[in-house]
Amino acid sequence: MILEVIVDISTDNVDRCFDYLGEDVPLGSRVAVEFGKKQLIGFVIGKKETSEFSRLKWARYIDTPISSEQLELLNFMRTAYDLRYIDALRLFVPAKLREEKDPEYSRKYLSVDGARTLEELCATVGSRAPKQLEALKYIAANGGQFLSVLIAKFGASAINGLRGKGVVEESLVHERSTPLGTLSREKKTVTLTPAQADAVRSIEEGEGTFLLHGVTGSGKTEVYETVIEEELKRGKTAIMLVPEISLTPQVLGLFRARFGDSVAILHSGLNASERYDEWKRLRTGEARIAIGARSAIFAPLENIGVIIIDEEHDASYQSENNPRYDTKTVAAYRAHLSGAKLVLGSATPDIETYMRATEGKYHLLTLPERISKYALPEMEIVDMTAEFRSGNRGMFSVTLKEALKETLERGEQAMLFLNRRGFASFIRCKECGYIAKCEDCDISLTYHMSEHELKCHYCGRRYHEITKCPNCGSDQIKQGRIGTEKVVEELKALFTKVRVLRMDRDTTQHKDGYFKILGSFAAHEADVLVGTQMIAKGHDFGNVTLVGILEADAALYFSDYRASERTFQLITQVAGRAGRADKKGRVILQTYAPRHYVFRYGKTYDYVGFFKKEINTRLVTKFPPYTKIVRILISSGDEQDAVDCTRTVYKSIQALERERGKFVYLGAQRSPVTRMNGMVRYQVLMRLAPEQFGLCISDIYAAADAVKPKSGSIFVEINPQSLM
Ligand code: ADP
Ligand code: ZN
Ligand code: ZN
Repeated sequence: MILEVIVDISTDNVDRCFDYLGEDVPLGSRVAVEFGKKQLIGFVIGKKETSEFSRLKWARYIDTPISSEQLELLNFMRTAYDLRYIDALRLFVPAKLREEKDPEYSRKYLSVDGARTLEELCATVGSRAPKQLEALKYIAANGGQFLSVLIAKFGASAINGLRGKGVVEESLVHERSTPLGTLSREKKTVTLTPAQADAVRSIEEGEGTFLLHGVTGSGKTEVYETVIEEELKRGKTAIMLVPEISLTPQVLGLFRARFGDSVAILHSGLNASERYDEWKRLRTGEARIAIGARSAIFAPLENIGVIIIDEEHDASYQSENNPRYDTKTVAAYRAHLSGAKLVLGSATPDIETYMRATEGKYHLLTLPERISKYALPEMEIVDMTAEFRSGNRGMFSVTLKEALKETLERGEQAMLFLNRRGFASFIRCKECGYIAKCEDCDISLTYHMSEHELKCHYCGRRYHEITKCPNCGSDQIKQGRIGTEKVVEELKALFTKVRVLRMDRDTTQHKDGYFKILGSFAAHEADVLVGTQMIAKGHDFGNVTLVGILEADAALYFSDYRASERTFQLITQVAGRAGRADKKGRVILQTYAPRHYVFRYGKTYDYVGFFKKEINTRLVTKFPPYTKIVRILISSGDEQDAVDCTRTVYKSIQALERERGKFVYLGAQRSPVTRMNGMVRYQVLMRLAPEQFGLCISDIYAAADAVKPKSGSIFVEINPQSLM
């Protein structure tokens, strides 16, 4: 039999199979092959009777880690996202399976000789070996321990001494790492509210895709868990995806308590062996629920009954690095393959998701109220242009200052939230709130300091720098941005004794910085937590009664058609941080655009009202979901090469447009971030009607694949999360 094998080599840019001789093994099998002079791992993705090559080498079968259903998903992703085989394959197998070494490893484990009492054993050791006695007692007290751990603790001579005296028994134990062993929490049983029970019943009795829409604290998680439980009872398995940032020990503990060992949790804190262990427990059926960030969608489960995506609007579900894919699309396909239900949950659904629900493509389920007797906190909107005109040049409004003072006096805590994303900066008039926008796209212009000009990131149109506000003539027209350090500084100047924690990219560079800061804040070691969107998500601090949003409109003016949607999501999420427990919360939102519809609807948490307004804007301006945005990003170490490649791609796309009918928009330009890691970046950007997208996407991929930048890359993105 001839096997078509994808060899696991990272340096190679060629996406092709190699023929090997081998037994008739299932597709998706792992084989050891000789490649050049190296021994490598390969994956069988095809079989045939004959090969055009002679003198083929033998591929030795190891195992079959990828199921036929997973292979189908893989092939779908390859076509949909133009992925290379090896990049797609790596999503399905843990790193350990890409080495030939047997990933199973066991370690020597010592326990005390059970036939004798501890006293007898101690007597055998003798009182002249105190270290050995200490170790012996430790082993007895702990019911046993790994040899390596004991040696590290008591030294090799003491441990080997014990072993020599025959008082301990040795066995080989597979090291099952239990990263979550400590996380058990008391299980609490609740009676579902009528709305929750309805949602569960609809999901259980229905099929297809469901959107579970409910504000924070409305009991969505309880619905997910009940649905998972029901599916397990039917003999099915389940996948639940949550944003990585929500995988806090708290959340993991809850799942652990409810589902015990039948849940495998895949998160970024696992090392390669732990990851492999969790993968294997799923593969063998020992665990039947996979919970994790987006990559858990590739979990090796069979017979899936439900796939749940919590916080489905979260940007992290789109993979923006190779391999690029959109988790929701992949999940929908996987659900389709296995006949599973797909449940998308959010307080602020993606506009596209909600549109599908209104069109009847998804079943819409609503949880209208919070569970706790406290309603969502009231949101107050403060007009910062008025503050500015009345002489307040600081970053805190009078209202916020007073609220902070009261909160601190009561010994309660506050969170100050700064809306910050990327490098982009817009231009705003501090006196009247005017924002410079593209005349063609109605999207905020981005200021490019080096070129002294304003640019639209969607059509590339350039505008002169402005020094006077075209609306009111003020010269207070500036780049609008402040940093977290500045907030802390001003806060300390206002309240000398205040204890402040800061959370942003700088303070969380160390991996556990994030949890450390949150832990410290939860322990009330600080009065105020100042941070970027990192502090927006799913953490409950019972003592937080004030949330201040400093630049609520900053995200509104990123050159991004999703700016309003993002802002609505953020303010809803941030507001949800206030007063979760038994204390009433207050939210103060500072903005230069108090009349913008996002705040009007945000103030009352009126998602549906917001949706209706927003979807209308998208229709008029021809942005998704009414179109698809496709960007081909070209990067090269050489400017001329980048220009040449861009020209070639642009020409083939133009030809495609002539052949298939006009696109909504097509243009080529330098990318907003012109240089990254020493590479020059150009882009070809287009907006296509959905029908046209279906007709053209494979040709667009082909056009991009036909160009090879000298020392860079070229790739295609669909509805990219940002145009950096
Ligand atoms: P969401 O996921 O929508 O933010 P959760 O499911 O986390 O909401 O529920 C919020 C809180 O209410 C949690 O503490 C949860 O344990 C509790 N809760 C959920 N459903 C019920 C119920 N039916 N009865 C009592 N408490 C509930
Ligand atoms: Zn003005
Ligand atoms: Zn424009």
